[in-house]
Amino acid sequence: MALAQFGIVRRFLEAHAGFRVSFVEIRGPMEELRQIQGLLPAAAILLGRATVGTALLAAHLDDDEVISLYFRGDGPIEFVFSECTRRGTLRGFTPKPDVLPMKDGELDLTAALGKGTLTVVRTHPRLPAPQRGTIELQTGSIGEDLAHYLHQSEQRKALVNLAVKLDQSGAFLVAGGVLVDLLPNATEAVAAQLEENWRRSPSVSDMFEAGFPAEQLLTPLLRGFSPIEIDKPTGLEFFCPCNKDRLIRSMRMFSQQELSDIVDKKETTTARCEFCGRGYQLDWQTVKDIRDKRHRSDLQ
Ligand SMILES: [Zn+2]
Repeated sequence: MALAQFGIVRRFLEAHAGFRVSFVEIRGPMEELRQIQGLLPAAAILLGRATVGTALLAAHLDDDEVISLYFRGDGPIEFVFSECTRRGTLRGFTPKPDVLPMKDGELDLTAALGKGTLTVVRTHPRLPAPQRGTIELQTGSIGEDLAHYLHQSEQRKALVNLAVKLDQSGAFLVAGGVLVDLLPNATEAVAAQLEENWRRSPSVSDMFEAGFPAEQLLTPLLRGFSPIEIDKPTGLEFFCPCNKDRLIRSMRMFSQQELSDIVDKKETTTARCEFCGRGYQLDWQTVKDIRDKRHRSDLQ
C-alpha cells in the first residue's frame, strides 16, 4: 500500500474586520482517492470540488466533529458524497465514476449533477442527533451551491473558491480552496472590499498550480486586511473508517433478491467498501443471517 499522502489545512482570523479564513490543499489525498475509485474527469472534478468544500467547512469545527456534504441530482452522476473530520481525515464517493457528459465537445459538469439538492450533516459526539440542512442546488457547480447553503441555512455570508484541475492524463493537478467566512460584526464595506479583491485577484487555480504557499496565495484575496494564523497548520489524509461490522450493517440496504442471490450460491463472497475498495470476506451463512433478519423486520 502506498504511503498516505497528506493535504494541509490552515486557518486565519481577521478579528478587527470580522472574518475568518480557511485554506486547504488536498491534491495528494484526492489523487489517492481517484486511483482507488478509478474516477474519470467528471467524477474527479465534482468529487474534488465537493471534498475541498467539505474540508474548508471542517477547518472551523470542534475536534471531534464530522461534516458531510451530499449533492444529489437528476443528472447521470446521481450523487457526490464527501466527509471530513476536524481530526484530519477525508473520504468521498460517487456511484458513477465513469460518466462523461459532453456538450459542444466539452465536459458538461453542470449537466453531470443536474437539478437536485445539497444536504449538509454535522455530527458531534456531544449532540444527541446529527444537525442537518438541505437546500435546492442553484447551479450544480458545487462552489456556488455551497456559498448559497451557508447563506440560506446558516445565515453565513461567505466567499468560496474551489480550485480543482486535472492534467492531460486525468490526474489531479490542483485540489485546493479558500473560504472566507464573514462574522456577524463584519461591515458592508468589508464585504464589498473582499468581493472587489476576489474579482481582481489572479486565478486561484493558477496560484495553486504554481505551488504558492497560503500566505502568498491569500495576499491578493485579502488585500487591505491583516489576518493572523490560528493554531498550527494541520494535515488531512484519505482514510476510511470501515470495518466488517459496518459493512454488514450497510448490506441491510440490499434488496432481498440481491441477498438471496449471494446465499443461493453457498459460497464465500467478497464485499467491497465503496469508499476505499477494501474487501471483506463474508461466508454465505452471514449473508443469510442478514437476509433473514431483514425479512423479519420487513414483516413487522
Ligand atoms: Zn472503506
